[in-house]
Amino acid sequence: MTSSFTRTLRFKVRSESYGWLGAAAVEVNQVFNFCNEAALLAATRTDLKRKWFTGFDLCNLTSGSSQYFERIGSDTIQRICVEYAQKRSAAKRRRLRWRISRGARRSLGWIPFKAASLKRKGRALRFCGKTFRIFEAERLNEVKWGQGCFAQDAVGDWWLCLPVELPVEQRPASEESVGIDLGLKDIAVTSDGERLEAGRFYRGIEARIAQAQRRGHRRQAKRLHRKAARRRADALHQFSRRIVNQYETIFVGDVSSQKLVRTRMAKSVLDSGWCMLKRMLQYKGEHAGRSVEVVSERNTTRACSVCGALLGPTGMDMLAVRHWECSECGAGHDRDHNAARNIRYVGLRTQASVCGNELWHDMIPVEQDRPVLVRHGWGACYATA
Ligand SMILES: [Zn+2]
Repeated sequence: MTSSFTRTLRFKVRSESYGWLGAAAVEVNQVFNFCNEAALLAATRTDLKRKWFTGFDLCNLTSGSSQYFERIGSDTIQRICVEYAQKRSAAKRRRLRWRISRGARRSLGWIPFKAASLKRKGRALRFCGKTFRIFEAERLNEVKWGQGCFAQDAVGDWWLCLPVELPVEQRPASEESVGIDLGLKDIAVTSDGERLEAGRFYRGIEARIAQAQRRGHRRQAKRLHRKAARRRADALHQFSRRIVNQYETIFVGDVSSQKLVRTRMAKSVLDSGWCMLKRMLQYKGEHAGRSVEVVSERNTTRACSVCGALLGPTGMDMLAVRHWECSECGAGHDRDHNAARNIRYVGLRTQASVCGNELWHDMIPVEQDRPVLVRHGWGACYATA
């Protein structure tokens, strides 16, 4: 069991430092592009000196170069070399895209640094011989940070991103387990019937974005996009926090957004924030000592959560069916709520088979063409799926 975990805090930098940060970002781009060029040259040599540069090689190549830069120091240069080598290896390419400092296709500013080069000075911060002021500096009280970066967003504002170590808080949850179905109409529905409604983040903003774009106000449009994205993140944060506080074990369906992105549902999938929600549940759960598990979604929409009969709606074309009635037992179902309850059963059953717990609930047939045990109230009977 770990006693601490890492999360990244973001602080908005006060605008008086934007000029300096912008100029420093140009120097970062120069180092990055140097690495790019050197790595490409070394990788495409035809003699025996051909080499795939590592971060260590690039650090050696750039050592001592900080004297030629006005703002950034050797720690930033080393971080750029290491990050460059990692990105390039991950991309498996001989060179990456150049970082562009000027013009319309300018790269968003990025200035990495090592933990020791950022110092606290009262309410302000010192970095590379310059004093920075940030908003909400009190969040830095009593935390120890690792290597971080200054990063610029599409609107042009600068943010300080600092990974910090936080202790795991162990608080027992009031309830045992929950199943969560991820969907499009509602981003998430829990087995207890709680919903996170989709599509309300752009409400009222969409028209204003269109208007700004028509008038050629690109910066204003970007600002509105950022506003909608923040509203969505905020709703996801609140929802995931409630779930993690309330339940000990959390089961999430293994819905694959990658698969759905290729269908006509693409826009709503990309917009729904499933990945973000899953990630939040994962790290918040880890922080609170909860168990968060992904379970197979197979048949969870089709099966009746009362009797287990596979009589529900199925397939993409049936997505419009929001409510249905089980013709086997007569129970009325909300599509997503029913699926969430099934996800919880599947999760509990998978868990039970691991730890030998008798609390299993065998409602959902996993294999379609095999008779499965289904429990009806007191008795048990065999039903053919
Ligand atoms: Zn039924």
